[in-house]
Amino acid sequence: MDFLDNALNKAKEVIDVAYKKTEEVVATEKQRFDIASLNSKIEKDYKALGEIYYNLLKESDDIPDEAKPHFADITEKLERIKELRDDIGEAKNKAVCPHCQSYIPKNCVYCSVCGEKLK
Ligand SMILES: [Zn+2]
Repeated sequence: MDFLDNALNKAKEVIDVAYKKTEEVVATEKQRFDIASLNSKIEKDYKALGEIYYNLLKESDDIPDEAKPHFADITEKLERIKELRDDIGEAKNKAVCPHCQSYIPKNCVYCSVCGEKLK
């Protein structure tokens, strides 16, 4: 009988340890998921902050040296996007709204999509 009780107690201990390990693994995986989720949210905030900062730098005469290459790269890419959009507009014989980038009939006074007054 002692032998059977000992065997059962041992088995219960093994199961308890396994259960505790499983709980720890699940908790750790949940924490890792939370970290990844928070990092993803931080990335979005950094992006939003970067856009705000970029627009502030556009108004500034004093761009910090470490920001200059990024500022120049973004400006160059935005100009290239504008050229590409203008090319598409030309091909469609349409103008590009500078506010919402919709393709609209040329010689419109207002954008028919967003209502922006056009030059
Ligand atoms: Zn528009």
